Amino acid sequence: MVQMYLSGMEDVFAREEVAALKAQVKSAKSVVVTSHRSPDGDAIGSSLALKHMLSAMGVSSTVVMPDAYATFLHWMPGQDSVRFHDAEPEAVSALVEEADMLFCLDYNAPSRAGGLAEAVQHACDKEGSTVVMIDHHQEPEPFADVMLSDPTTGSTCELIYRLLQAWGMEEALDADLASCLYCGLITDTGSFRFSSVQPSSHDMASVLLATGMDHSRIHSLIYDACRLEQVQLTAYALSQKLQVFPEHRSAIISLSLEELKRYSAQKGDTEGLVNRALAIEGINFAAFIKEDVDRVKMSLRSRGAFSVRDVAATHFNGGGHHNAAGGACEGESLQSVVDRMVTLIPTWSDDLQYDD
Ligand code: 5GP
Ligand code: MN
Repeated sequence: MVQMYLSGMEDVFAREEVAALKAQVKSAKSVVVTSHRSPDGDAIGSSLALKHMLSAMGVSSTVVMPDAYATFLHWMPGQDSVRFHDAEPEAVSALVEEADMLFCLDYNAPSRAGGLAEAVQHACDKEGSTVVMIDHHQEPEPFADVMLSDPTTGSTCELIYRLLQAWGMEEALDADLASCLYCGLITDTGSFRFSSVQPSSHDMASVLLATGMDHSRIHSLIYDACRLEQVQLTAYALSQKLQVFPEHRSAIISLSLEELKRYSAQKGDTEGLVNRALAIEGINFAAFIKEDVDRVKMSLRSRGAFSVRDVAATHFNGGGHHNAAGGACEGESLQSVVDRMVTLIPTWSDDLQYDD
């Protein structure tokens, strides 16, 4: 098994090995595309975009996800064919284990694939199959045969677009493929707000728009499709559950399962809540902590120099990016995780005293 670590210091997609993958994928008998647990817009967008590219090459593939994704993403072309591990564990694990070409998109370690983790690891260990990781998270575990890693890029969809260019497939870029790529591009860059945005991000948006893709409709589908109860949950969280520590430039919100149930919360309903806490003037660190059935999950955000990735990795079994990260605590109560956070915040106070 030859491992190839291509990092963002060079144009990794210009390498011969990447061009060679195209021939390899064409001769593969079974191609499977996977992404991470609780798939987001970049996970689904990049996976379906790759599926569209492969089908334009005459290669059929199956997109599989560990679990379901938020309803505001239920519009993407090709999404009807996605299969979920939590709905049919044995069949989906078998697909992953038996693939002779397995793509791992938008995650940097098998453990991030939730229920699919074991099957992904099995595929990595198996002789004769090729596992390709395409991802933008820092410090990937060296698990795949081909690792296309570029942590300087804001979204995996931008990397899939670079793959499309490297494979000389610009002609395959129709409005359906463009819509999938655009979804990951806007959701992972905060609609072009984050510092990870590069001139090439806008160049890509320009090319996507030229396909006739309806960008305005996509923004509406993602951002303006809230159920009334979701808006009311947000109002409750901000008015009753927001704790601000102005002296430490920090804010946190927590929600229990009971509170989530009270507002009939569905997957994705609390996405973006953490950004409301970060939007408060003077706040450089925000956390949203929520109780789940089997764990306590958190979303962390920062502005500027303070690394939430370090916070997630050091204290909350997580990881992610410098300014956007997450973690999960199993076997610990919501109150205990919140208490730990409230105790830790003052210890970071000195590092959080800056204006950007
Ligand atoms: P979000 O807060 O939007 O769920 O995630 C923000 C970022 O943190 C994403 O890049 C995501 O991949 C990463 N992230 C979220 N949860 C976890 C986790 O439990 N473990 C790790 N390693 N990364 C996470
Ligand atoms: Mn991503």
